[in-house]
Amino acid sequence: MPRALVTGGAGFLGSHLCDRLLAEGYEVVAFDNLLTGSTDNLAHLLDEPRFRYVNYDVTEYLYLDGPLDLVYHMASPASPVDFPTKPIQILKVNGIGTHRALGLARAKGAKFLIASTSEVYGDPLVHPQTEEYWGNVNPIGTRGVYDEAKRYGEAMTMAYRRFHGVDTKIVRIFNTYGPRMRLNDGRVVPNFVGQALRGDPITVYGTGTQTRSFCYVSDLLDGIFKLSVTDKSVSGPVNIGNPTERTMLEFAQEIKRLTGSASEIVYEPLPTADDPKQRRPDITKARELLGWEPKISLEDGLKETINYFKGKLTETAKSS
Ligand code: UDP
Repeated sequence: MPRALVTGGAGFLGSHLCDRLLAEGYEVVAFDNLLTGSTDNLAHLLDEPRFRYVNYDVTEYLYLDGPLDLVYHMASPASPVDFPTKPIQILKVNGIGTHRALGLARAKGAKFLIASTSEVYGDPLVHPQTEEYWGNVNPIGTRGVYDEAKRYGEAMTMAYRRFHGVDTKIVRIFNTYGPRMRLNDGRVVPNFVGQALRGDPITVYGTGTQTRSFCYVSDLLDGIFKLSVTDKSVSGPVNIGNPTERTMLEFAQEIKRLTGSASEIVYEPLPTADDPKQRRPDITKARELLGWEPKISLEDGLKETINYFKGKLTETAKSS
């Protein structure tokens, strides 16, 4: 049975990755220090004999007994609200943590995949973003702790590939949404859906003309899994995301419609000057290399996500 380690396994994407790997017949070990993850995301797996969760800070020396076939380095806070509140942890987990995870992969002869991000493109001057674009990042802005940490993680990954011959993959993840996002995560999907369901004002930042392209979590995990196991040599990064692009104002209106909410849409100042004005993945490389493309429409994905957040809001109301 192949065996995989998922760092950040209790997080939004990490926990969905654990599910996918178990469904594919893997034995899975999840490391997480619960800085932003939650064991609630793994509660359904605790009786699964092929699954083990270990409370582990992956910036420490990494030890795992037994053989290992794949290391997925998914650990990192990823919401812009985490950037000013956890800046050093973000730099450490993508810097030191990536180094540790690569070291473990090398020692075990395992393949390695790092969760990188569309944030490596910063506020992009090339649209849509192809993997060849080097980006437009402000290293000293409030988003710099995340953007530069992920860029460093990519550089370290390439160093282990070139210098140590580790079989590495880099996935650049674009905006993703779905069940298990934190209700108080601060990103636009939980914010808008939570606000719409509570009847609170929906907070569009800036003029709402900035764009994003949202990928449903199962589509994203399908792309990540396919990339991680492909026999093809993929030396460079691969964008995984949904190319359907919307302005944030259109997105607020769509969520209002799907929730049937009477919330008003209000405008608030942009939290950071570096907020990217546009973002859309060019997924030609993923299509050609992996035969992958997203399948879930925004409407279907949002319906699932809205149901999930409705359940969370009911739980919160009961416990308070
Ligand atoms: N945004 C917004 N209202 C909110 C939260 C976010 O208008 O309540 C905007 C934010 O300014 C950005 C976009 O939505 O332009 C996506 O933000 P998110 O925090 O989800 O992630 P990002 O793509 O910026 O990393």
